[in-house]
This record gives sequence, structure tokens and C-alpha cells, in this order.
Amino acid sequence: MDSCIFCKIVRKDIPSEIVYESEKVIAFRDVAPVAPNHILVIPKEHVESLNDLDDEKRKKFLPEIFESIHELASKENVMEDGYRVVTNCGKDGGQTVGHLHFHLLGGREMQWPPG
Ligand code: ADP
Repeated sequence: MDSCIFCKIVRKDIPSEIVYESEKVIAFRDVAPVAPNHILVIPKEHVESLNDLDDEKRKKFLPEIFESIHELASKENVMEDGYRVVTNCGKDGGQTVGHLHFHLLGGREMQWPPG
């Protein structure tokens, strides 16, 4: 998608600090981190949100997304103390970028419930 900011990151049209990359998945540091460790993991293919993951796309992306989250949590050294994985879906979910992404948050104690 031409105007999508995360598609621009996938195409390397805009800079980002990439921490994981494969054929189907890419992960990069959030530009406005809300925790000491804040990484976004996304499918390279443009999918708006969880709502738009059909069966084919679910099988194509989700296993690798969660494998990479596991790998990144280990690399970021947050496994022992714990971390949070979040995807915001739609308006009430607080989604501001319309390209499916999973936040990996760690390095501090999280609050519950979220706002
Ligand atoms: P929210 O903005 O409420 O966290 P989202 O779940 O849609 O909603 O998250 C979008 C995330 O994308 C935000 O954490 C934001 O800081 C991040 N972001 C936006 N633009 C960039 C960018 N160019 N590089 C890295 N992260 C970005």
C-alpha cells in the first residue's frame, strides 16, 4: 500500500531500526517507545488489522510472528522478568496505524487494566 507508513518501512523508503527480518515478517523498534524495550512485529504484506486475517493469511504469518516475538524477547533479555504482547484492533482498540502489528513491550512492570 503506497501511503501506509509500515509498508514504507518494509520497502525501506523510510528509515527504521530493524531487529528481525525474513521473507514474510519484519520487526523494528517503535519510534515513540512506551517501555525500555518496544518493538513492533508486522507481516510484510499489507493487512489492516486482526479483522482482516483470513485463514490463508493466519497460517502464512502468525506462526512466524510469534516465533520471532519469542526470539526477540530472548535477545532483548526480557524473558526472565516478563513482557507484554499487544495488538490494537480498530478504533476502540486504539489502533492508529492501519497495518497489522504486534507490540512487544518489556523492561518495566506493566499496569493492568490498560487504559
Ligand atoms: P498507538 O499509536 O495507540 O500505539 P497502534 O497500536 O496503531 O496505536 O501503534 C502504532 C505504533 O506505531 C505506535 O506505537 C507508534 O509510535 C508507532 N510508529 C508510528 N510510526 C512509526 C515509525 N515510522 N517507526 C516506528 N514506529 C512507528
